[in-house]
This record gives sequence, C-alpha cells and structure tokens, in this order.
Amino acid sequence: MTDQHVAFVTGGSRGIGRATVVALASAGHPVAFCYSSDEAGARATQEAAEQAGGKVLAVCADVADVASVDGAFGEIESSFGPVTVLVNNAGIARDGLVARMNDEQWQTVIDTNLGGAFRTIRRATKAMMKARYGRIVNVSSASGQMGQAGQANYSAAKAGLLGFSKAVALESAARGITVNVIAPGYIGTEMVQAVPKEVLESKILPQIPLGRLGNVEEIARCVSFLAADDAGFITGACLDANGGQYMA
Ligand code: NDP
Repeated sequence: MTDQHVAFVTGGSRGIGRATVVALASAGHPVAFCYSSDEAGARATQEAAEQAGGKVLAVCADVADVASVDGAFGEIESSFGPVTVLVNNAGIARDGLVARMNDEQWQTVIDTNLGGAFRTIRRATKAMMKARYGRIVNVSSASGQMGQAGQANYSAAKAGLLGFSKAVALESAARGITVNVIAPGYIGTEMVQAVPKEVLESKILPQIPLGRLGNVEEIARCVSFLAADDAGFITGACLDANGGQYMA
C-alpha cells in the first residue's frame, strides 16, 4: 500500500521519464515533471498521465540551472504542495573519445546528469526532512558501472550518481528519507531504436544475456517500486535492470 505523495520527475517529456510519470500517476500520486525544450513531448506525457487518472503538472525547467530548478519547485509547491517523491531522470549524452572531448561536452553532461540531481535533492530534502518522509530515486546507467568507450563524460556523471546517492542516503536516513539508484542497461528508447539494425544485432544484443532491449515501462516499474512506501527499508541501493549485461 502506498499513500499519496507529491512526486517530481525530471526529464518527463519522453522515454523513461514519460513512462515513470504515467506509472506514478497510475499509482495515485499527483505528479509534476520538467523538460527543458520538448513542449510537444511534454503535452503528450501530460495527456498520457491524465488518461491514467492522475493529477499532472508540466514545468519547463533546466536542471543545470539553479534558478530554474528553484522556480520549478516553487511552481510545484503552489500547485500540489511539497515534493516528497523525487525522481532524477533528466539526462543527456555528448559522446566523443576523451582525447577529442572539449570542455563544453564534459561540463554540460556533468552539470546536467550529476549536477541536476544535486540541485533538485538540495532543494527537495528541506521539505522531506520536515515531513520526516521522502523517496529519492536517481537514474544512473550501466555505463556508470562498467564504463563505456566514447562516453567518458556520461560514465563519470552516472558513476558519480552512485556515490552521491549513498552519501545522501546516509545523511538523510534518520529523517525517513530513502535514496536509491536504478541503473538501466540498453532500453528501447528513440535513441537506441535509431541505431542501425545490423549494429543492434551484431554489437549490442550479443552483450545482453536476455537477448533483447529493455522497455521504458520495465524501468518505470523499478522506479515506482523504489518510490513506494513499501520500499521503506531499502536505501543506498542500486537496482540493476540491464538484461544481465552487467552483474554487480
Ligand atoms: P531521453 O533523451 O529520451 O529523454 C531525456 C529527458 O530529459 C527529456 O525529457 C529531456 O527533455 C530531459 N532533459 C534533458 N536535459 C534536460 C535539462 N537540462 N533539464 C531538464 N530536462 C532535461 O532519455 P531516456 O528516456 O533515454 O533516458 C532517461 C534517463 O535514463 C537518462 O538519465 C539516461 O541517461 C538514463 N538511461 C537511459 C538508457 C537508455 O538506454 N535509454 C540506459 C541507461 C540510462 P528536453 O528534451 O525538453 O530537454
């Protein structure tokens, strides 16, 4: 059983974020989500979550910008009240070999994928501590556990989320706040589906013992589980959902 809690999902305009917004709305939570530019995607997420019977709020905000994050929380708090379920899902990739990676590629990925979680968690934990309740789920990646050639920036940010989450879990446990990570492997989002079929079949699928890509609903179910009241004895953990590609 899960009581209703105000949830905030970053990066909800498509992919894993959209599926997570829909899953949390279906579980009865009022759900806010942010996106940085994809308005059409945000509208589609809002419609899908409303069809699932939820109260949904879309906010345009950049997780790499502190004022924008504060503004988003202000909007959510005046519509729904304090956030007690936070899902840090917003993420980007700016791939390249490290020898040729420029500072902008490095910094943007670190600021968005790792710095974004820092900014939202810093803002959200005040209300969670007051409520003596909170569920934080950070979306990392198998690339942060294994390393991925051509993605040093992305792998560093996603690995950083693992240590960051454990530190915040220790700092906030006494106040009833749990902090966990989900580390997906290859998921059949637009980005992965755009990979040529022969590359998918010869290079990617052979790395996955279950022999297929994951789907966004499978990841959303993992997030919903970690975000539920019932998961209250799990903190500082990382749930791997990668078809067996990496066994920690
Ligand atoms: P998508 O690229 O499909 O969606 C990313 C979402 O994040 C969009 O809603 C996007 O909105 C938003 N976003 C990006 N930058 C910002 C920003 N600065 N501020 C606010 N929102 C932002 O990603 P996926 O669904 O594929 O992935 C979701 C998460 O899962 C990411 O963290 C990713 O690293 C991780 N992951 C994905 C895997 C996969 O195979 N797909 C595997 C492992 C991990 P907008 O376009 O409007 O900015």
